[in-house]
Amino acid sequence: MSDIDFLQSIVTRYPDFPKPGIVFLDIFPIFRDPVALETLITHFVYHITSHTIPKSVRKKVDVVVGLDARGFLIGPLIALRLGAAFVPVRKKGKLPGPCKLASYEKEYGIDTFEMQEGAIRHGQNVVIVDDLIATGGSASAAGSLVRMQGGNILEYLFIVEVSALRKNWPIEDPVYSIIQE
Ligand code: 5GP
Repeated sequence: MSDIDFLQSIVTRYPDFPKPGIVFLDIFPIFRDPVALETLITHFVYHITSHTIPKSVRKKVDVVVGLDARGFLIGPLIALRLGAAFVPVRKKGKLPGPCKLASYEKEYGIDTFEMQEGAIRHGQNVVIVDDLIATGGSASAAGSLVRMQGGNILEYLFIVEVSALRKNWPIEDPVYSIIQE
């Protein structure tokens, strides 16, 4: 079994959660199995450092940005392996000090993300991490925050993508996902 098939077999689907008609993909079973978690992080690190990017154009990742909240679980593990910084993007009102803001549309209404000013320096190479991309709204807002600070987005990384929505993602930089639903 490939590492992708292994991870796909562990991700669990919950129909009608959090409300009727929605199938929720739960990635926490990966965290309950140390071998699965090791596989997940090694897969991402292998992808970032050697897999798809030709050596001639490969850039060192300076910062891993993780999205509130499950991006906080994956991001620091990847950052530690890469010798990179980890920077959180949080829901509004959670971070102290001056922050940059970016809003995005949710199913019902607008949500706002924040990043602490100066958390990314001009010209730093950044990857953005979350567990799942659906509409791409939250990832796009995180990307705006990175660009506001002068960061250079190399790639967006997700455990799962909802492929049917890919054509409408408001994202221009490359997107990599391990599992396509
Ligand atoms: P988007 O902004 O791309 O529409 O939604 C992505 C965000 O919603 C991510 O932060 C992700 O954690 C959360 N999300 C939406 N649906 C699911 C799901 O089925 N499973 C998980 N794990 N997260 C979801």
